[in-house]
Amino acid sequence: MARKILLNYSAERVQEPILATVIKETGLTFNILYAEFTGRGGEILLSIEAPDQEVDKAIELFRKKGVEVREIKRAIHLDRELCIDCGACLSLCPSGALFQDKDNTVMLDEDKCVYCELCVPSCPVKALELSRF
Ligand code: SF4
Ligand code: SF4
Repeated sequence: MARKILLNYSAERVQEPILATVIKETGLTFNILYAEFTGRGGEILLSIEAPDQEVDKAIELFRKKGVEVREIKRAIHLDRELCIDCGACLSLCPSGALFQDKDNTVMLDEDKCVYCELCVPSCPVKALELSRF
């Protein structure tokens, strides 16, 4: 499973090409799940599919460059035994992690999940479960 890390930029760091530099220095590919910047700083949630050692190296590089890094240790599970494919969760999912396949079966691509938790209370049969570890 891809690891997800949340980067917090201070106002001073926002203008620096830190993400591009870390990509260049590590050779890793980052999937940006969301990014939000204001005058007071910014946040980027990254999904990284790579060996642990390489992800750890990237985290270290971000920290050295003055970016706060927090690893998101959560997991979401869709219980296909319980799911009745009602679709109630689909429109709530902001990242496309919940989707319908060609047979209209509701599926979950956890690598796209930003753990907003919006889907969990929407499910009438409690098929979606979020856990922290
Ligand atoms: S927590 Fe649920 S609604 Fe939010 S991104 Fe993940 S799957 Fe989608
Ligand atoms: S709300 Fe629950 S039952 Fe309905 S499609 Fe989503 S996971 Fe399945």
